Amino acid sequence: MSRSPQTEAEQNIALLADDKFTEITRVPIWDPEQDDVLVCRQVRQETHDVKTFVFSGREPRAFRFYPGQYMTFELPVEGRVTRCYTISASAARPYRVEITVKRVPGGPGSNWLHDYMIPGKEITVSGPAGEFTTDATTEEKLLFLSAGSGITPMMSMTRTACDLSEPSDLHFIHAARMPSDIIFRDELALLSAQNPSLKLAFTCDTTLASHSWSGYTGRLSLPMLSLMSADFMDRKIFCCGPALFMDGVRNMLKQAGFNMEKYYEESFDFGAETAGTHEEPASVAPEISDQLFRVSFPKTGHVVECGPGMTILSAAREAGLMPVSSCQRGICGTCKSKLLSGRVDMQHGGGIRQREIDQGKILICCSSPLSDIEVEL
Ligand SMILES: Cc1cc2nc3c(=O)[nH]c(=O)nc-3n(C[C@H](O)[C@H](O)[C@H](O)COP(=O)(O)OP(=O)(O)OC[C@H]3O[C@@H](n4cnc5c(N)ncnc54)[C@H](O)[C@@H]3O)c2cc1C
Repeated sequence: MSRSPQTEAEQNIALLADDKFTEITRVPIWDPEQDDVLVCRQVRQETHDVKTFVFSGREPRAFRFYPGQYMTFELPVEGRVTRCYTISASAARPYRVEITVKRVPGGPGSNWLHDYMIPGKEITVSGPAGEFTTDATTEEKLLFLSAGSGITPMMSMTRTACDLSEPSDLHFIHAARMPSDIIFRDELALLSAQNPSLKLAFTCDTTLASHSWSGYTGRLSLPMLSLMSADFMDRKIFCCGPALFMDGVRNMLKQAGFNMEKYYEESFDFGAETAGTHEEPASVAPEISDQLFRVSFPKTGHVVECGPGMTILSAAREAGLMPVSSCQRGICGTCKSKLLSGRVDMQHGGGIRQREIDQGKILICCSSPLSDIEVEL
């Protein structure tokens, strides 16, 4: 007869080895309607200005998300700011989520995370949410184009595909300032070595004599892209990076005559135009679309008329108010307010929970009145 397990490691191995295995996988699912606190478990320095933060629930939770989705973090800086971060981890490893954050000079959110988020610290979040996703084990040929911290959604998609089986036919191209700025460089090289269908190419704006560099040098261009991915015209393309990078990619692909219906991008910058990532909030129902409604803000006594399809955020601004807001797409939750009376048409993108809607909360950036309304700002 074998002796009983003594240490924690022995107990875990015993659990895995016997029929209790099913019990340890029956971890409750993270429910975005109920669960909203993550605990930091680990911080990893990826490059000189990029860190990965590993989180799990207070109690064990299994996170269900599509690779490429993000979570929205409420950060206790300057009162409270909300920032979205893509889950960089594999969706096939559901008990932890990871985000990989670049320190933006002067940026309140990223600097707070870098300076104050340490193991044991708790943070309020919502999500996962987002539409920018693909299954990299699909039959379709894929091309990922990323730059800087825009690598995170592609990394989650790649890690997930490698965990589940193997990417079917994936070209992954990443652009960085210098070799030392390439996030996940070693891991990607390893994944590529283990998965022959994952072809990898890096390009750097500049290199120093001290860097041993055998990759491409210079900004991504059409001739360079053709060398890195000869059949790029036949691929479905996913792109994420700074606005200038994505502008350049779009122009390059249009110049090559690429079918832009097979092009998807995610912008990390709410101020920038994006393609294929979100739909504009729908305007109000057509039968009442020519009506004007009174939008009242009782706290300040302001009243303004709201025209067809106009959001309450725009109405508030017209009234001279300056409510806090960020994404203007119903994603980040920054502008959450209480609807005191009346009805609205809210076309949000995951920035509010059903239980909050049930409590009469709305996101004013993506809500238009369907009657006269009163809003608490
Ligand atoms: C859907 C979504 C997913 C995101 N995922 C990630 C992620 O995985 N990793 C990550 O690091 N960031 C990610 N971001 C960006 C992140 O939400 C913050 O905008 C970023 O951390 C900067 O916040 P801040 O408060 O420090 O600076 P802010 O005050 O918000 O920004 C300061 C300035 O820096 C610019 N800027 C913002 N983000 C970046 C960036 N990443 N690189 C260069 N310049 C930037 C802004 O345009 C602004 O001009 C994501 C954003 C969105 C909308």
